Amino acid sequence: MARNAKLLLPVLNKKELTFLRTALNASIPATITAADPTVGTDVFTLSDAAVKMAITYSRGAGNHYQSSIRQTWTTLKDGNTLTHRDKWRRAIMILKEFLAGAKRYPGGLLIDGLPPIGVPSKRPPIVVREPEALIRWLFFRGMANRQLGRIVECAYCGKWGLRNRARQGMKYCTKQCQQDAHLEGVKRSQNSSIEFAALETSGRRAVRLKQINDRKRQLENAGGALPKALRREKEILDYSERMRTS
Ligand SMILES: [Zn+2]
Repeated sequence: MARNAKLLLPVLNKKELTFLRTALNASIPATITAADPTVGTDVFTLSDAAVKMAITYSRGAGNHYQSSIRQTWTTLKDGNTLTHRDKWRRAIMILKEFLAGAKRYPGGLLIDGLPPIGVPSKRPPIVVREPEALIRWLFFRGMANRQLGRIVECAYCGKWGLRNRARQGMKYCTKQCQQDAHLEGVKRSQNSSIEFAALETSGRRAVRLKQINDRKRQLENAGGALPKALRREKEILDYSERMRTS
């Protein structure tokens, strides 16, 4: 009697996760300038890593597939043509869209356009001939194994980072950025305190506080709430009021 077959979707290893981060941070200009020797560096780095992965994934697919995979990637790698760049750019764009989708629907996504997969096999060979197919396959496994939460677009420096653990609401690429952002926030609120202290000496603090409190009451009567910026201002004014009277 036939039994249900099992398919293993291995967790992304460190190399694969790092590859995704590199891809997300890659800068691939739309044009090739011969004068700039650094142009295309990211493309080469990505293709280098990609060809190695593609060959590993194809194990068991048979010699015919393996040699064709090697050939396709080598042509792609050595070319550094506009077509080649476009392929990477498109793959990275898809990756970013997928990641946004994963954030919106952490419970799961439908992923189409997966590369050809060998059956029957517990650890099936995968045929990856294009940057996009590679990205789809890596994303698929990362999603299945709940690893994508580790990939974060930094709210402070704008780079993509890889955190040690996936946690909800992570905003920074590294601990360093998290600390820097926090420090900057502290400085900003210190600056506002100085501004409000100036308001106080000019006697405008109480006037402003009354304005905000009136607005708050008005909004609450209408079933609304004070906007964030005003809430923050009120907090600081209340604080300085407490400091003044204590
Ligand atoms: Zn950062």
